[in-house]
Amino acid sequence: MTGQQPLPLPLPLVPGPLAQAPVVPAPVELAPTMDSWSDLVETVTGCVACAELAAGRTHVVPGVYPDGADVLLIGEAPGAQEDASGVPFVGKAGQVLDALLGAAGLARDRVAVANVLKCRPPGNRKPKRSEMATCTPWLDRQLELIDPVLVITLGGTAAEWALGSGTKISAARGAPHQFRGRSLLVTYHPSAAIRFGPNGAPMRALRDDLASAAELVDRLRARR
Ligand code: SF4
Repeated sequence: MTGQQPLPLPLPLVPGPLAQAPVVPAPVELAPTMDSWSDLVETVTGCVACAELAAGRTHVVPGVYPDGADVLLIGEAPGAQEDASGVPFVGKAGQVLDALLGAAGLARDRVAVANVLKCRPPGNRKPKRSEMATCTPWLDRQLELIDPVLVITLGGTAAEWALGSGTKISAARGAPHQFRGRSLLVTYHPSAAIRFGPNGAPMRALRDDLASAAELVDRLRARR
């Protein structure tokens, strides 16, 4: 054969069966780069780091942060109504929480709310430790962005998230803990309070703890 051979044509840039899905950075990489609450909300809404939770959810539930809020309530994970609406603490537990916050004198517009997990575990099962570890960077960054004078954990999962595995609410409630340079109170989740009835011990404890929280917040605000 004589003369120059034609150069091979470039391969078409059409994804084939071996094309790789784009790599999504993990929460541990992404969350610390969030500069504002709105950036974080927008980004966490696309998080798929927990495959099972991401596949089963209707909405990611990042939380709420009213302008000027300086108290952060931390719950466990979205339930069915939160998953359907994308808003934390709606439904019966939310109504009870709102009523108790109002009775304690904690104005809702100064209270931010977030969960340890942003996606609903199937059948409302307890979060797995691996899921908590994966989702934690989002909550860590929310804590930094809100910079609350007081954190209140609601329920066992949130108490363990803050104070370590094995923390018992009955032993940990009643006095403030130091948590990352701020004050933290531990109390029951409103769902537990509902389960034991309006005169049950968890409801009384939750009411008392929120009243104590309101007094403590006044003192902490005066110091800031
Ligand atoms: S639970 Fe948290 S880490 Fe897991 S997929 Fe949802 S937002 Fe991402």
